[in-house]
Amino acid sequence: MLVSAAEMLKKAKAGHYAVGQFNINNLEWTKAVLTTAQECNSPVILGVSAGAGKYMAGFKVVADMVKAMIESLNITVPVAIHLDHGTYEDCYKCIKAGFSSIMFDGSHYPIEENIAKTQELVNVAHALGLSIEAEVGSIGGEEDGVVGMGECADPEECKKIADLGVDMLAAGIGNIHGKYPANWKGLSFETLDAVQQLTGEMPLVLHGGTGIPADMIQKAISLGVSKINVNTECQLSFTAATRAYIEAGKDLSGKGFDPRKVLAPGYEAIKATVKEKMELFGSVGKA
Ligand SMILES: [Zn+2]
Repeated sequence: MLVSAAEMLKKAKAGHYAVGQFNINNLEWTKAVLTTAQECNSPVILGVSAGAGKYMAGFKVVADMVKAMIESLNITVPVAIHLDHGTYEDCYKCIKAGFSSIMFDGSHYPIEENIAKTQELVNVAHALGLSIEAEVGSIGGEEDGVVGMGECADPEECKKIADLGVDMLAAGIGNIHGKYPANWKGLSFETLDAVQQLTGEMPLVLHGGTGIPADMIQKAISLGVSKINVNTECQLSFTAATRAYIEAGKDLSGKGFDPRKVLAPGYEAIKATVKEKMELFGSVGKA
C-alpha cells in the first residue's frame, strides 16, 4: 500500500521504534525490500537518490515500477517512495512523477534560504498529500559526489525548520554516509538530545545507518530517531554475495550465466540485510 511517510513515522516515534529507509537501485533491489517488508509485517520507506533515479531512467519509471510491484506482489504493508537528498528542482520532479514523499536537502543554503525553500515545498507537498523531510547541518561522507564533514546541527536551527511543518527532520549528529572511518568519534547523543528537547514530537532521521553499532542505534531511537537510512550496507551485502557466486565459478556451470541466477544470491543477501535492520530498528510486526 503506497502511502506518505507521515503516519508511519508518527506511530514509530510514539512507539519508540524506527522505520528503515532502504535505498533502491533496480528491480531486484525494489523486490527484495518490498517482499522482506511484507514478510516482516513492517512499514518501509524506499529511498531514491537523484543518481539512482537517473540510473533507472527517471523518477517516473521508479514510481511506476514501485506502484506496479506493490499491486502485483500484493504488498499490504505501508510503503513510501521517498526522494533522498533532493534538490529544489528534483523535489518538483518527484512530486510530478508520483512519489509519496520527498526530502529537500537545503542544508548547504544559508539558514534563511533553507527556511524559505523548505516552507514553500512543505506547502506544496502537504497540499498534495506527500510527506516531506528537511535537513539541518550537513551530514558527512559522500552524497552523490558532494562530500560533507559530519558536523553537528544547531538545535535552534532544527527547531526553526521543524516549526515549518515538515514531517521528519534529519539533523547531523556526527553521522556520515558510506563506511565509517576507524577514527570515527561516534554519534553525538548530546546534540540529538538537545534537538529532541526543542522539536518534541518531530520524528528525527538518522542518515548513514551503515556501520553504526547496534547499541548506538538503539540509544538514538530512545532519543527520538524514528527513521534510519540504510544504503551502503545493502550494496556491500549484494556485492559480496555476487562476488562469491562468480568466484565459485557458478556462472560457468550449466545455465549459471543466466542473469536471474547470477543476481539471485545478491537478492537474497539484500533481503537478509533488510530483515536484520528491521529487527534491530524494532519495526517488525508494526505495519
Ligand atoms: Zn543521507
